[in-house]
Amino acid sequence: MEYIIDIQNVKKWYPKKKSKEVIEAVKGISLQVKRGEVVGLLGPNGAGKTTLIKMMCGLLIPNEGTVKINEFDMNANRSKALKHLSVVLEGNRNLYWRLTVKENLEYFSGNRGMSKKEISSKVDELLERFNLKGKAHEQVNTLSRGMQQKLSIAVALLADTDIIFLDEPTLGLDIETSYEIRKLLTEIAKGENKTILLSSHDMPVVQDICQRVVIVNGGKIITDENVQNLLDLFDTKAYSFTLQ
Ligand code: ATP
Repeated sequence: MEYIIDIQNVKKWYPKKKSKEVIEAVKGISLQVKRGEVVGLLGPNGAGKTTLIKMMCGLLIPNEGTVKINEFDMNANRSKALKHLSVVLEGNRNLYWRLTVKENLEYFSGNRGMSKKEISSKVDELLERFNLKGKAHEQVNTLSRGMQQKLSIAVALLADTDIIFLDEPTLGLDIETSYEIRKLLTEIAKGENKTILLSSHDMPVVQDICQRVVIVNGGKIITDENVQNLLDLFDTKAYSFTLQ
């Protein structure tokens, strides 16, 4: 199998409030990603990145086009397609806010058919790796945004899926936490043969983690390039400025 993510001509429109018109968020995007590839999705606000990610991970159904994950069609074989992916959305909606950090990790491990012993050692390993040990018994709603974001990524790793989608993983974080998350994602990208697709406005994140950059604007792909070629083509500063 050549492509682990294969989307063909997907389109998504939303109804406009108090109007018969629609907002065409994604206007016909085709994208193929190979196993182990790390792809950055860039583009200005409103370009369609979140909509695209939500369609790829099955949270939104395209109005037209197909999404295949590991050859399973998201429409016809949804549960099989979903088994291969995890997703970290903006706002950490994959977490239980009234549970503690450790309880969240335990809860989501429990969904994976692991024994109690396996759960305990996996949870300890993730707490250590994500520097969350000191916060293990604190409720998620008391944590900083950065801590919540780290926990979200740790939860996504629990399932050990082939693909991880991340929507703006460093948005709104302070420089230190942003750097910490960048380091963690770089380790995951380089060491675990995961296929990663992340949207970001943060050029250093994309530069560090991704091999390939897809730029979306107005619901369409305008550039699909190897990251180094892109950096050679443009001055990074000027480029990131145009994407804000
Ligand atoms: P950002 O970087 O600001 O998150 P984005 O590139 O992720 O932007 P989307 O969130 O996918 O872009 O939005 C694409 C377009 O679709 C925008 O015009 C947005 O206002 C619109 N849109 C997104 N979600 C909805 C919705 N639920 N209902 C109506 N319009 C929506």
